[in-house]
Amino acid sequence: MKITTVRTAVLAGNFPWVLVRIETDAGVTGLGEAYWGAGVAELVHRAGSLIIGENPVNIGRLMFVLERCLSGEGAQAGATVTAMSGIEIALWDLVGRLHQAPISTFFGGRFRDKVRVYADCHAGETHDPHSYADKARAVVAEGYTALKFDLDNPNPHTFDVSDDPHSRRQWIEPYNRGIGAAELRWMVAVAGALRAAVGPDVGLALDCHWKFNVGDAIRLAQALEPFELLWLEDPAPPLNLAVQRDVTRATRTPICTGENLYRLEGFRAAIETQAARILAPDIPKMGGLMEFKKVADLAAVYYIPMAPHNVASPIGTVAGAQVSAAIANFLVIEYHAHEVDWWADLVDGEPPIRDGFVHLNDRPGHGLTLNEDVARAHLAPGSSYFGENP
Ligand code: MG
Repeated sequence: MKITTVRTAVLAGNFPWVLVRIETDAGVTGLGEAYWGAGVAELVHRAGSLIIGENPVNIGRLMFVLERCLSGEGAQAGATVTAMSGIEIALWDLVGRLHQAPISTFFGGRFRDKVRVYADCHAGETHDPHSYADKARAVVAEGYTALKFDLDNPNPHTFDVSDDPHSRRQWIEPYNRGIGAAELRWMVAVAGALRAAVGPDVGLALDCHWKFNVGDAIRLAQALEPFELLWLEDPAPPLNLAVQRDVTRATRTPICTGENLYRLEGFRAAIETQAARILAPDIPKMGGLMEFKKVADLAAVYYIPMAPHNVASPIGTVAGAQVSAAIANFLVIEYHAHEVDWWADLVDGEPPIRDGFVHLNDRPGHGLTLNEDVARAHLAPGSSYFGENP
């Protein structure tokens, strides 16, 4: 059996969803997804051209070939790895269909058939902490047992920082900035309102998107300790692991990072230095299912759980859930399309996420069939449907 085509269809979700379809001369196909980014679809075609004619079952070898052939074009980190991730996921779906087994079977089978999801909720309708609480209550009512809100996005036009003259200047400093007294009070109020709204048993994560200097990252993490967060995500910039470790060790609030790391090599130092209590690899971005499993296994040696970052369509989400089902140190996987009302319509049958869990089925591959009509209706401008002429 030989790979004959590697094609893409980019859909206009809340992020561009880069779907990857691989066809063979035996008629078996696979469908994967790559994380979004400038040039990713083109890089899928570039990488795909290197594996035409190869046997699709030799996934380890094919990824090695891509790594070597693209070593000068970014096969260590960045968009090239993202493109390779989409191909790898499509290959696993293809192999699953060929052998009539779900992807999880190839990674050691399942610890669980229901994979816990957290809903990314962004923010309240306003900056009033009660507005955050209202949103949290509504999402928990849908069955979610874990939520995430952003804690780094107060709007200077609607948030009164007039009692702290330093704060207003700090709004325009995107990275490594401090946290003003008024802002810290607002953050604590938001966390308190959220915890009061959802009660003690719902997982509550808060994301800071790499914003704060080390001292204020620690100050924030300590101030949030009473709210027993599931985690505090990226309070400090990510590249200095010694600083990451300082923050992690200074608080009992679990610190999470990892959505911008690539491949096992990119995670190695973060794991070995225990720079975070929880890691969040983005599976369709960081290298794919096999690479994620390697990271999870190394993290398991350090008793670090995995909470995959995820902004994918159902294809990337459920593929990620298949391998997440196969690791012991799984915590929860992200669902970032709560506001996209056609997310579940992209695939036939029941919605993959029900009552706060991805429900895996026993069908081959990732177990999903793309609804072509819905996918075609949401093609991104300029994208073809898997190579068809528009
Ligand atoms: Mg994040």
